[in-house]
Amino acid sequence: MGHCDKNQSQPWLFHLLPAASINIDGNQSGFYALERFIQTFLALHKYKMKNIAIIGTGNMGAPMSVNLSEAGFTVNAYDLVTEKLDALTPHGINKCSSHEEAIRNADIILTMLPSGDEVKDVYYRHVSQSGDTKSLLVDSSTIDLMDAKEIHSAMKAKGFSMLDAPVSGGTIGAANGALTFMVGGDPNDMKDASVIFDVMGKTTIHCGLGGMGQAAKMCNNMMLGIQMASVAEGFKLAQHCGLSDEKLFDVATQSSGNCFSLTTFCPIPGIVATSPSSNGYQPGFSTELMLKDMGLALNAANNAGLKLQTAITAKEIYQAFSDQGNDHKDFSAIFTSLQSSLNARTGEE
Ligand code: NAD
Repeated sequence: MGHCDKNQSQPWLFHLLPAASINIDGNQSGFYALERFIQTFLALHKYKMKNIAIIGTGNMGAPMSVNLSEAGFTVNAYDLVTEKLDALTPHGINKCSSHEEAIRNADIILTMLPSGDEVKDVYYRHVSQSGDTKSLLVDSSTIDLMDAKEIHSAMKAKGFSMLDAPVSGGTIGAANGALTFMVGGDPNDMKDASVIFDVMGKTTIHCGLGGMGQAAKMCNNMMLGIQMASVAEGFKLAQHCGLSDEKLFDVATQSSGNCFSLTTFCPIPGIVATSPSSNGYQPGFSTELMLKDMGLALNAANNAGLKLQTAITAKEIYQAFSDQGNDHKDFSAIFTSLQSSLNARTGEE
C-alpha cells in the first residue's frame, strides 16, 4: 500500500472500467462519454500523466476530482477540512492526510483554493519543500494577477514548471466536465496538462505567459459584472416606463443589447426558466465570488494606473448588496436591490 489510504495499489487501468460502465448508457450522452473515455485512455497512455494530486476539494475541486477519478486517473486529494475528503472516497479518490502525502509521486499537482494567500502557502511551504520538480504544477484557483506572476517566478526558480489555469463555468460546469480553462505558461506544459483539462472541461485556451490565464479570467469576469449591472438597470428603466419585462427581453435578445446576462442569467424571475432568478436567486455565481473578482480586476487596474469608472461603480453595487447580507445569493439578484432603491425614492412598498 502506498502513502494514501485507498486504491493506491490498484493499476490505473482498473479505474477506467467503472468509468465506462457508469457513463455508457446507450443514449447520445453515452456516446459522448465513450468518446471521452477513449480520448482519455489514449491520452493517459501517451503522456503517462496518471497520478494527480488535488489540493482543495471544495465546491469546485470536489467535482473536478470526481471527473478525473472516473476517467481513470489516480487522484490523491487533500483538503484542510477532512469531511470534504470523506465524501470523495466512494468515487475512488484517495484521501490523504497532508499536503505532502498528496503530492508525493504526482505527475500533476492541481490546486483549487480560495485565494492567493492559500495558493502561496501550499506552493511555498509544501510543494517547494517536499515536492518533486518532475511534477507539473497547475493552479486553477482565481487569484490576484501579481500573486500569480510571483508564484510562477518563485516556482520556476525552484525548478518547477507551472501553469495558471483558472476556470469559467462554475459548479455546474465542474460537475459536467464542461469548464473553460484559461491558461498562462509554456504551451508545451499546457499540452501535457491537456490530458486533465480535456476531462474536466470542454474548452482550453492558451492566453500567454505565466499569469495571463488569471488576466483573462479577471477581465472576462469584470465585463460580466458590469454587464449584469447594465441589464438589471435596463429592466428597471423599462418597468419605470411601463414596458413589460417580456417585451424588453424579446427585443433586446434580438437586438444590440443581447448578452450572457440576459440570455442565460436573466435577472428577472420567470423569463428564462434555467436562470438563477427563476430559482429564488440561488447561485449560479454568488455575489461573494463576483465581488471577489471585481476586486481582483480593480486591484490590477490600480497597479496599472488605470481608473475604470464603470467597474468601480459596478463593484460598489455588489459591495452594497453584499453588505446587506446577500453574499450567497446569485449576483443577478442585485436587480432586487435596484428595486428597493427605487421604492425607497418613490415611497412605494
Ligand atoms: P471553496 O471555498 O468551496 O473550496 C476551497 C477549498 O480549499 C476548501 O474546501 C478549503 O477547505 C480548502 N483549502 C483552503 N486552504 C487550504 C490549504 N492551505 N490546503 C488545503 N486545502 C485548503 O471554493 P470553490 O468555490 O471551490 O472555489 C475555488 C476557487 O475557484 C476559488 O479561487 C474561486 O474563486 C474559483 N472559482 C469558483 C467558482 C464557483 O462557482 N464556485 C467558479 C469559478 C472559479
